Order: sequence, then structure tokens, then C-alpha cells
Amino acid sequence: MTTYNFCAGPAMLPVEVMQQAQDEFVNWHGRGCSIMEMSHRGKDFIKVAAQAEQDLRDLLQVPANYKVLFMHGGGRGQFSAVPLNLAKPGLSADYIVSGAWSKAAAEEAAKFTQLQVQTITTKTDDLRSLIAPSDWQLNPNASFVHFCPNETVDGLEFTDLPQTSASLVADLSSTILSRPIDVSRYGVIYAGAQKNIGPSGLTIALVRDDLLPAKDAAIPCVLDYRLYAENDSMFNTPPTYAWYLAGLVFQWLKRTGGVEAMAQRNQLKAQTLYSYIDQSDFYRNDVATAYRSWMNVPFFLADERLNDQFVSEAEQNGLLALKGHRMVGGMRASIYNAMPLEGVQTLVSFMKEFARVNG
Ligand SMILES: *Cc1c(COP(=O)(O)O)cnc(C)c1O
Repeated sequence: MTTYNFCAGPAMLPVEVMQQAQDEFVNWHGRGCSIMEMSHRGKDFIKVAAQAEQDLRDLLQVPANYKVLFMHGGGRGQFSAVPLNLAKPGLSADYIVSGAWSKAAAEEAAKFTQLQVQTITTKTDDLRSLIAPSDWQLNPNASFVHFCPNETVDGLEFTDLPQTSASLVADLSSTILSRPIDVSRYGVIYAGAQKNIGPSGLTIALVRDDLLPAKDAAIPCVLDYRLYAENDSMFNTPPTYAWYLAGLVFQWLKRTGGVEAMAQRNQLKAQTLYSYIDQSDFYRNDVATAYRSWMNVPFFLADERLNDQFVSEAEQNGLLALKGHRMVGGMRASIYNAMPLEGVQTLVSFMKEFARVNG
């Protein structure tokens, strides 16, 4: 039985990538040891690291005036790193709250900077929705504007960007590489790797040159963008295996048509699932159509008493990790880049059959 893993993170990786990693696990390219046993300062690893950076630059068309940093600390590390690197004395930062992760980011930032929080979630006719970026109240003098375009827990996603003179800082942990983006519109983009990039332990930050902090800034070294930039992300030992594996994922993305082709596949996957849910009386999704996530699809059974049975029968059918986040309840299908269309089709078939038997 083919299994499909709908885990929100750490998430499914492309099978062919894991098979490649398996093939070269013990003896990387005939060197007699694993890539994870090699010095990060040796020429083999440096080549792997530089190739991964170049491939990511190619995939997202990262302009030359942006640094690509391979960091530790996950998304939450960046919740601290962003204000530590970008806050300016006497200026406040704008934090847009659209769900659980952007709220957590604001709470962390409050330790390090003044900030204005604006909650943009709304609810009408039982549908969860968002205030559009064009209607956000932004302070043009803010040191930066932080937001999270895809809320992993809540299943809300937006793609428009606000017009403001302040630098945009975005947490793309659960949507990076799922579709093309215009990097030049942002000051900083960051993403923990474990959703759409590779294994946990690696965090990517794209930082526009002019936003690197001052040389003498009192920032913990493992969060200091300048220190990372000046040392090719090797001031200390980077998460080498995760970096290598991310590189294999970037090559897989390039082979399969890049982010444009990925976007088409992701849109089709999301459409397949939402359109089945919408025409069913047995299941419902409560996010306004314009803000539905392509990556994380929360849904509810009309009869919530069947939740445990749904999860366990799904598992028996090879459909893993569908239980919803504890804050939201119900179910959640995370359908990141590595989830093939067949996985979504198999889920829909299972949902149909479950509804037929239990409806
Ligand atoms: C998963 C996630 C995080 C947290 O990442 P950690 O690596 O666990 O710190 C932050 N933001 C978003 C949007 C996420 O999906």
C-alpha cells in the first residue's frame, strides 16, 4: 500500500529525494564516508552548500542584493532574529496577526522592540476571513512590517502584498517554493525547512543587503544576519545534513519544472480537495474562498463524534497524520510540494467512502 503523509511538519519529502539520499547515505560520491561526517569547511561540503544556494537563487530568482542565509533555530529562531536584526531605536514595528504563527511572532518580538499589533482575522457567516493587505493600517515609519502569508495551523493564506514604504518581513515557513514570488518586494523572507524545503534543523533567511545589522550590534551570534552573511553561513557548524538534503529538494524542484510548475500542481491539488469538501454535506471547510491555503487544508466532519474513527480508518488506508491541530480541532490535510496529486485523490476517495458508509 502506498502511504501518504499529511503531517503539517516535519512534513513529507519527495520519495525520489529520500531514495537518492539513501543511495549516497553511507558513502557519498565514493568518498568513503557520509556527507554528514564531512567537515563543513572541506571542499566537498562547500560545493554542496554553494550549489544549494545557487539552486534556491535560481528557483526564486533571488536578486543579487539579497543574502541567502542557512541558519539554525527554526521559524521561532527568526521570530527573535527579525526584531534583533531589524528593529531601530525609537521606531516601532508593525506586526500583522492572521493566525497562530504570526501571533507567536508578535509575542516574541515584543521582548525586543516596540510594536503595533494589528489583527486582521474576521468572521462573517461562519466563514473565517482576513482583511486584505490594501486595507491594513500601516505606519510608514515603522522599522518593518511583519506578516505570515500562510498560516499553517489556521489554513488561511493570502498572496497580495501591502503598499508601504516600510520593509516587508514575511514568515514563509509553510508556503515558500509553493509558487513564484517577487523576492524584490520583501526586505526579509524566512522559512523553517521542515515544511517545504527539507528536514527540520535548517532555517533559510533571504535578507536584503541594506537590512544587515551594524557590525557592532549586540545580537547573539547564531541569530546575527551580518555574521552569517560574512561567513557564508558557516560562522559555526551549520546543520550540514539538512542543508545537503535541502539541496537535493531544490534540484528535484528544478527537474520538475521549478516553482511555476509547482504552483500549477499545488493549485490543482488544493482545488481537488476543496471542491470535494464544498459539494459534500458530510465535510466542511470554514475559510472564505479567497483566503484558503494551498498548503494546509483544515476540515471538519459534520458529526464530530466520528473524528477518531476517521483518523484511525484513514491511517489503516495509508493516509497519515490527518488529525487537526489541537487549537483548531477537526482534521487538517497538509499538502505541501512533496504531496503528489495522487495523494490528494486517494484522500478524496477515502473521504467519499467514509461519508457513504457513515453518512
Ligand atoms: C512551523 C512554523 C513555524 C515554527 O517553526 P519552528 O521551526 O518549529 O520554530 C513558524 N511559522 C510558521 C508559519 C510555521 O508553519
